[in-house]
Amino acid sequence: MDTTFDGMPDGRLYLAGEWREGTGAEITSVFPADGSVNRVLKGASRADGEEAIAKAKAAQADPAWQGLKPHERARYLYAIADGIEANIDRISQIQTRDTGKTLRETAALAASAAGTFRYFGAVVETMDEDLTVQRGTALTMSVHEPLGIVAAITPWNSPIASDAQKVAPALAAGNAVILKPASWSPLTALELARIVDEAGLPKGLFSVLPGSGREIGNLLVEHPDIARVSFTGGTTTGRALARQAADKLMPVSLELGGKSPTIVFEDADQDQALAGILFGIFSSSGQSCIAGSRLFVQKSIYDSFVPRLVEATKRLKVGHPFDADTQVAPLIHMDHRAEVADHVARAIAEGAELLCGGAIPEGDLYAKGSYYLPTILAGVKNTDRICREEVFGPVLVVMPFEDEAEVIALSNDNDYGLACGIWTRDFPKAWRIGRAIRSGTIWHNTYKQFSISTPFGGEDDSGVGREKGRQGLRAYMAQKSFYTDLTGQMHPWAAATVEGL
Ligand code: NAP
Repeated sequence: MDTTFDGMPDGRLYLAGEWREGTGAEITSVFPADGSVNRVLKGASRADGEEAIAKAKAAQADPAWQGLKPHERARYLYAIADGIEANIDRISQIQTRDTGKTLRETAALAASAAGTFRYFGAVVETMDEDLTVQRGTALTMSVHEPLGIVAAITPWNSPIASDAQKVAPALAAGNAVILKPASWSPLTALELARIVDEAGLPKGLFSVLPGSGREIGNLLVEHPDIARVSFTGGTTTGRALARQAADKLMPVSLELGGKSPTIVFEDADQDQALAGILFGIFSSSGQSCIAGSRLFVQKSIYDSFVPRLVEATKRLKVGHPFDADTQVAPLIHMDHRAEVADHVARAIAEGAELLCGGAIPEGDLYAKGSYYLPTILAGVKNTDRICREEVFGPVLVVMPFEDEAEVIALSNDNDYGLACGIWTRDFPKAWRIGRAIRSGTIWHNTYKQFSISTPFGGEDDSGVGREKGRQGLRAYMAQKSFYTDLTGQMHPWAAATVEGL
């Protein structure tokens, strides 16, 4: 266990290329494993936000930035990717203290962020514009231009990775970006700012403004100079933000919550399914939008499969995020643990049967941290609150199903539509079911796998829009159609009028 790391960001904001103390309310970053304070910092005020926006506007409009060729912009992204890669251990240490995630997970998130910057550098370098099919007497083209200033608002559960998913394509597209990280995890984004600064990105193009959602988040959504908000967070916040955005007709992308079904058929490789289900719900301590939190097991194997699942869940190593063998680390915050525990208590009061967990682990290691045991509930109906509401913690509900038709109906009978896991050896069946379920992502015989080149996003209450993939760059660009005449002739409609003038 490394307790010697002393490289935490000092808490100053990164405002248009300058490091300085914020003038807003205080924010406290706490290490969830023991409640110790990482840093108390002054968040950004509205005035800080307005200054960052004004400087971003000037930097984005600077002809030196506007005039860069795509491959020249890409160089900044590659430099940021290099910077992240060279600092993976450091970022991982900071993020683990900021969020309580295991070092193994935070190192993987940092590596993925580097990959995201590299990928969008490559995309912008290689993306073509379209010469559209000519239908008249003009040469027709479709070109893409930067939007201006993009605001990225991110949650606490996977900083650096979710930050990169927005910042990389938005910068690659030629915009300026203002990043507002969540108040429970403000420090990781400030480390990203240090790396971006070292990569030499012109000042003003990037700011990191920790601060309250209500104050700085609201400003970013309302401000007339912000051209797009890319938001990842809860559905309630996302819905409110979309309403504000509608007032100024601003496009938003919303990556929101989930209550994702995982389906196990009797013909599945059951060990493979067990391992995938455990990973899908209990890794990241269930604090994952894509957590496979609703499990449907075919009736014919329910009585044999579920006890094995419970036994395996009890074996999971709940531990300190610095320990290499920890599988389930603490939750982000004591307040969040209290919410998770409330969900479970309410479900039990409403008739759910507790199969395992449902408590805070006992022992000195857990005394000061926001730990919660991996929990499985059965005896529930798909319409119960515990099966409809996102818990965002290590809590799985298990239900039996008879056949394909029933499990499709049960899976779709939910407000969310983010992800779905299907465990079967029968590919045509997986295909049929996957196509019938409303969900942004389907995983067949796997779960929580990601590829930056594969688009990601949700349906219904899980969001609007897609991130990642080559088209992910276009979300941060304005499309323009360009017609140029090929005839050299006056338009016949007015030719006679003009002749002889
Ligand atoms: P949250 O409470 O909605 O907060 C997300 C971000 O929005 C934070 O930076 C927050 O700032 C900010 N915010 C709050 N109120 C705002 C307002 N009025 N205007 C503008 N910004 C505002 O979500 P969270 O608790 O941090 O994250 C958990 C949620 O994120 C879960 O529902 C999870 O499913 C979802 N999520 C979705 C995805 C996906 O890709 N679909 C990925 C990860 C997480 P403060 O922290 O200062 O309040």
